[in-house]
Amino acid sequence: MDKNFKKQTIAIDTPFARRDPYGSISIPIYNTVAYEFENAADMADAFTGRVLVPDYSRVMNPTVSYFEDKVKALTGAANVFSFNSGMAAISNIFLAIAGTGKNIVTSRHLFGNSYALLTKTLKRFGVEARFVDLTDIDAVDAVIDADTSCIYLEIITNPQMEVADLRVLSEIAHRHNIPLVADTTMIPFTKFSAKELGVDVEVVSSTKYISGGATALGGLIIDYGTFPEVNKTIRFELLFNIGSYMTPQAAYMQSLGLETLDARYRVQSQNAVWIARRLEGLKEVKVNSLALDSHPYHEIANEQFGGSYGAMLTLELASEQACYDFINNLKLIRRATNLFDNKTLAIHPYSTIFGNFTPEEKAAMDVLPTLIRISVGLEDIEDIYDDIIQALGL
Ligand SMILES: *Cc1c(COP(=O)(O)O)cnc(C)c1O
Repeated sequence: MDKNFKKQTIAIDTPFARRDPYGSISIPIYNTVAYEFENAADMADAFTGRVLVPDYSRVMNPTVSYFEDKVKALTGAANVFSFNSGMAAISNIFLAIAGTGKNIVTSRHLFGNSYALLTKTLKRFGVEARFVDLTDIDAVDAVIDADTSCIYLEIITNPQMEVADLRVLSEIAHRHNIPLVADTTMIPFTKFSAKELGVDVEVVSSTKYISGGATALGGLIIDYGTFPEVNKTIRFELLFNIGSYMTPQAAYMQSLGLETLDARYRVQSQNAVWIARRLEGLKEVKVNSLALDSHPYHEIANEQFGGSYGAMLTLELASEQACYDFINNLKLIRRATNLFDNKTLAIHPYSTIFGNFTPEEKAAMDVLPTLIRISVGLEDIEDIYDDIIQALGL
């Protein structure tokens, strides 16, 4: 494909690795587990990894590879791996770079399951999570030691909306010869280059913006090749031994989703800005959006994400009861988790996503009982706004 094509063209027109015998325009769904070989030597080459061709769909499948090829072309990554959920991608990157006696330097501001993966699951295998304020550079530098495997963060934390400086964290990580691993789910990789900001490995829940309309779970590891053991471990060990590679059905959905990602994101992120600005004028509610000049991380977000702020905003209400009332009053907006669906979604994170954490843990994570999270969808903005206003009782 022409190297000069822009991202939106790549997202649509990336060619298949092999021409389809029927000239199919859509990538076929290769619903097969195994692949037949012409001879013993080809078979040996495939099974030993000397030649990268599919031999078994736990490890490689043409439909999934096509999705990965698109992501590779869009990001300039050295290697892309797809998994059956964002959590599977996150688990696999930690399995690739950490182990007993190692530690992961990160923030308490994490997606709930990522936090629990570190503090419960990986802890049982002797991996330590070192929580630090990632916006305090000296503190980050101080907690890194010879056993640190990476700095791990989310580019916009959810629901706190903290944005750390990726360039500075990358400098610290590289000074210690460890990778900077970033969960970039909150801003599509078509909108900014994590690589240019010094990120070594991106993980993405492709369930969100990419799937487009919440059609399929998915996760990605996007590896820029700066720490070669990442590729080696995932490709030749974890895909085989962990078995959480994406299914061809999910890859088909997500590949279709990628085609419309930019168009959807443009509308959704604009809708979110418009709603945040309108709500900003109301005294009954405090609205948090990175798009607002008043947000403490507005400038760094603007700089890192190319003037794009995502489609999530949060509302702070008077009490926890006021949050329940708001959720119960909604008529159009869906009472649901997930982010960046075509439909606008609202949730009270304190009692749901973080519902099984203790009040002390939630306080340490800055998850407030008075906070509502809204993922702004593709509906008409007036209808979304009117529903928020009526649900607030205004
Ligand atoms: C949703 C989400 C995940 C987990 O992704 P799944 O696809 O649901 O497993 C991880 N990180 C962030 C920031 C998310 O929003």
